[in-house]
Amino acid sequence: MNPSDFPISPPRAWVEIDTAALLENLAYARNAAGCGIMAVVKAGAYGHGLEVISRTLESARVDFLGVANIGEARRIREAGVSSRIYLLGATWEAEREEIVARNITPCVSSLEEAAAFNAIAARRGVRLAVHIAVDTGMGRGGFLAEGIAENFGTLAAMDSLEIEGIASHLSSADEDEEFTWRQIRSFEETVEQLGGAEKFRWRHLSNSAGILGYPVGCRNLARPGLMLYGISPIPGFQESLKNVMSLKSRVTLVRTLPAGHGVSYGRSFVTARPTRIATVGIGYGDGYPRHVSGKGAEVFIRGAKHPVVGRVTMDQIMVELPDDSDVSCGDEVELFGAHIPVADVAGKADTIAWEILTGITPRVQRVYLPENGA
Ligand SMILES: *Cc1c(COP(=O)(O)O)cnc(C)c1O
Repeated sequence: MNPSDFPISPPRAWVEIDTAALLENLAYARNAAGCGIMAVVKAGAYGHGLEVISRTLESARVDFLGVANIGEARRIREAGVSSRIYLLGATWEAEREEIVARNITPCVSSLEEAAAFNAIAARRGVRLAVHIAVDTGMGRGGFLAEGIAENFGTLAAMDSLEIEGIASHLSSADEDEEFTWRQIRSFEETVEQLGGAEKFRWRHLSNSAGILGYPVGCRNLARPGLMLYGISPIPGFQESLKNVMSLKSRVTLVRTLPAGHGVSYGRSFVTARPTRIATVGIGYGDGYPRHVSGKGAEVFIRGAKHPVVGRVTMDQIMVELPDDSDVSCGDEVELFGAHIPVADVAGKADTIAWEILTGITPRVQRVYLPENGA
């Protein structure tokens, strides 16, 4: 059989990604932060596709793209994107040569890390821009406040490094105001202690929740992730953001099951009466979380919401329909998107929107909507 003899069938599960909405959210973040932007594109741009999203953000002239590791930085460069790239976390030895060679900007968390970068840069005859990371309470990376002035002196003496920025990270900006203000004050005090804002070209500590909830005097760069993708980590701002990703699938079967019939593994749901049940071609193998099973998650079909019943299986889920439903095989199903907030799905799955977005598996085709509907 020749592949050209038959049409290739469309995917069973796909995400639609609205890059125009992404750019609107970027504009909102820029305005809310009132400073430069490092757009965070780690984890495949939160599942939206690293290359396309990085190109889109470059077109809007962000100051930096923020990534988790050198592999992501490499993919961005190979996609022809030349925006500056910043590494959001500490590095280990085997990653550093390529970081210097590609002129990626790391933050440094220890003298040992800085000395290693300094040695590589010296050997290659370049001067590497680095940002000094300060641990104001996240406990994941950075220099502790204690003794930082002395360490800064040692860093400043490393000839092949340029200390271009100072950074910290908020641990609880979406859940603990008092602690967040403590972190912000500690960051501002550290900047002062190290010679003041003018010492650093870039000063940054705000993630999405930080941008939305907390003005910071000495900040001139902000690092939005989640809000660019249309989700507000703190209540009150959701209406200001545009939905970017919609997870979709199709109905593959509609039947009426008799009363007393189990639905899905373990028969956790049993019909109380004859019930219309639609089967939909998506499951946890696509990243739709199994943990929503039995939690009253809903999907959107033909203008209405319908509950998922029984357990989510690897490739299929079942949805209860009203008796008079006109839903039929082939109908499009929204799992999350404009009608079903991904945060609701995350809540039902006992997790956070970040994890749902980054958990959409490669089997799910990414479909990009043209900007401006063109
Ligand atoms: C992931 C990350 C961000 C973005 O966080 P959001 O809450 O998604 O806005 C910012 N800064 C650092 C250091 C990060 O790791």
